[in-house]
Amino acid sequence: MHQFLPYAWFGGQCVPFAEATLSVATHALHYGTGAFGGMRALPNPADNNEILLFRADRHARRLSQSARLLLTELAEETIHTAIQAFLQANRPTCPIYLRPFVYTSDLGIAPRLHNIQTDFLIYGIEMGDYLSPEGVSCRISSWCRQEDRSLPLRGKISGAYITSSLAKTEAVKSGFDEALLLNSRGKVSEASGMNLFIVRDGVLITPGVDQDILEGITRASIMELARSMDIPVLERAVDKTELMIADEVFLSGTAARVTPVRRIESTDLSSHRPVMEALRDRLTAITEGRDPSYDHWVTRIRLD
Ligand code: PMP
Repeated sequence: MHQFLPYAWFGGQCVPFAEATLSVATHALHYGTGAFGGMRALPNPADNNEILLFRADRHARRLSQSARLLLTELAEETIHTAIQAFLQANRPTCPIYLRPFVYTSDLGIAPRLHNIQTDFLIYGIEMGDYLSPEGVSCRISSWCRQEDRSLPLRGKISGAYITSSLAKTEAVKSGFDEALLLNSRGKVSEASGMNLFIVRDGVLITPGVDQDILEGITRASIMELARSMDIPVLERAVDKTELMIADEVFLSGTAARVTPVRRIESTDLSSHRPVMEALRDRLTAITEGRDPSYDHWVTRIRLD
């Protein structure tokens, strides 16, 4: 069970978490017509009165774009203002995960995105490791990642997560930790809630934005960091069997951060992962506010 933060942002203000409740007839609950974000924040290890948010501008932009894909408006400024108020109210003392959510809030039936009210909320949970930092075993899912012509894949659309949920449960029930989904063209796309990287002969390779992935903010950050560290980066289609012969395979995401893959199906992978480790160390230092050269990726919020 999650440890929820004491206050939620709901109806344009901070209210106690238990009071932030919705009707059983809420439209988005039935049709998956919502979009969410996921951000990490932590108290600055060097100053507990300061909260550090990783790439808040990118997260707000993606959520605002997700709202547009659901044919509604949610200004980035509205998101930033709500996050500020949310953090001031909750005063987190440990690492947390924020879940902002924009959704169709009318009561009643009929799938549609016109003539409908939308609303915006945020809640938060305490979060340490989402997946084991020691590494995960992955199954190639029998479920296929959706295509952009059936669903807007560049947004974090709630309804899309039925596929992630089916794939994750299939993987766990068959003895694995995580699922890797191929796209409709049979190329590797991503995991249930993370992007994927492989390393071959010192080159960092990740499925491109044309491979039906979510355009992950951690993924973009890792690619930028790798280039700054003179690690060659390629965005290209990845075949399933490349995973088995890769020198390193790892997953990236806000919740999962950088998580190594130790086994794929019946193939054990090497535990020697120099590229992943260098990137993970660098990313950890940045998120903890210890890397001045990437301070522009960190939003610092001083608690009143
Ligand atoms: N793919 C999916 C399906 C996800 O849900 C996530 C988590 N947001 C990611 C990839 C990774 O994205 P990010 O690095 O922006 O968290």
